[in-house]
Amino acid sequence: MSDKLYWNEALETMFDETLFDLESKRLKTQISRIFQVNDFYRDKWQQAGVDLGDIQDLDDLHKLPFTEKTELADAQKTGALLGANQSVELCKIMRIVGTGGTTGQPLRLGLTKNDLDAYSEMGARALWAMGCRPDDFVINCFNYSLYAGGTLDQSSFEKLGAAILPYGVGNTNRLLQVMGSIKQDICLYSTPSYAIHLAERAQEIGMSPQELNITKGFFSGEAGLQVPDYRQKIETTWGMSAADLYGAAEVGAQSGECEHRTGLHFFGQGLLVAELINPKTLEVVAKTDGAIGELVFTTLMYEACPLIRFRTHDSVQVFTEPCTCGRTGFRFHTLGRSDDMFVVKGVNVFPSGVQKALLSLQPQVTGEFYIVLNTVPPIDYSPLICVEVSNEIDASSHAGIIYVIKVAIREQLGFRAIIKLVKRGSIASMHKTRRLYRTYDGDRPPHENDSRCEE
Ligand SMILES: [Zn+2]
Repeated sequence: MSDKLYWNEALETMFDETLFDLESKRLKTQISRIFQVNDFYRDKWQQAGVDLGDIQDLDDLHKLPFTEKTELADAQKTGALLGANQSVELCKIMRIVGTGGTTGQPLRLGLTKNDLDAYSEMGARALWAMGCRPDDFVINCFNYSLYAGGTLDQSSFEKLGAAILPYGVGNTNRLLQVMGSIKQDICLYSTPSYAIHLAERAQEIGMSPQELNITKGFFSGEAGLQVPDYRQKIETTWGMSAADLYGAAEVGAQSGECEHRTGLHFFGQGLLVAELINPKTLEVVAKTDGAIGELVFTTLMYEACPLIRFRTHDSVQVFTEPCTCGRTGFRFHTLGRSDDMFVVKGVNVFPSGVQKALLSLQPQVTGEFYIVLNTVPPIDYSPLICVEVSNEIDASSHAGIIYVIKVAIREQLGFRAIIKLVKRGSIASMHKTRRLYRTYDGDRPPHENDSRCEE
């Protein structure tokens, strides 16, 4: 069983036309059911003047309005458990999770048994491509308290047949002791920055990451692995192979890299439709090779909380040239959240671009950083970037390093920045590591009052 190439060969290698027909049929069924039972979408579509008879296949999807996370959160403000998007009775709902809001309260989502099966099916396809197998032992370091990465992604590993230890976040020293006491291969499931944090902590307490037998890392929750040097840093530090999983908790963690590392294969076939849109004009962008846009998802089979044209605000670049692995769907690289892109004097900047520039300056800096924007756009000033400096660098060399970083940012990204050096190990965290703070929105960056910082 472990030798098979695909988790679900029929769907992962299906021809576009066959898949189009299957998904169009499912879309129509989903939409007519939602119209009957779901107040949120019925109101939304009626207000938009949509005639459901006009939705005959996937090519008509663009006629339906988008769904924003904030709308769903607003529908829960009355105190309703799941709000107007709840489409089945509570007795059919098996699990409830929260999804991290960028601001405010987490959004609550419900899943029926079938929903859980759909979520874990997509996850298993992706994890299989990423090299996870039933004889793997995986430690899950995502948050089990409320969030999807813990409990829902655990279901994906279980569906695949791997043995999973639900560790959660926090208590890093104890985790290292547990790892140290196990004399067999271990797989780590965490954010990429947690792998860095864990390695830093191991070294602090005199353990060598290389001796902890972590052979495979499956990473999610951040775009970090899409920056080649960051992946290499994790792989070299731990002596593991690191593969990337992408998803949105609301619809499933469903895209993963195969062994050829040609980008993230989309694994939603038959369960989830992905569209690409231009986030400014909101028009659909064809998924041709090299196209850039924001991913928008439509669930085809979810029963409890279906989502139609759900905006992820994640910006991606699509690839369609066939991959050697034989999977037929499209692939993509994540560029970052379109919300995280900012413009400095006309230059579009993604935090991942800054990360790339800093990683090229290792080992003087660790590659960990965050950006601070102090005023509402337009940003006609040099933004502040806090950068972790290596412990081995003497303080007398800090001014020189700041200069080198400034030059790298200017030459590689085309804008000027103010650089502040902060202590190694003070940025990468157990949770998703934030790379952008907008203080004008009330954000509080971690080193705000840190007198050890140097500019
Ligand atoms: Zn492939």
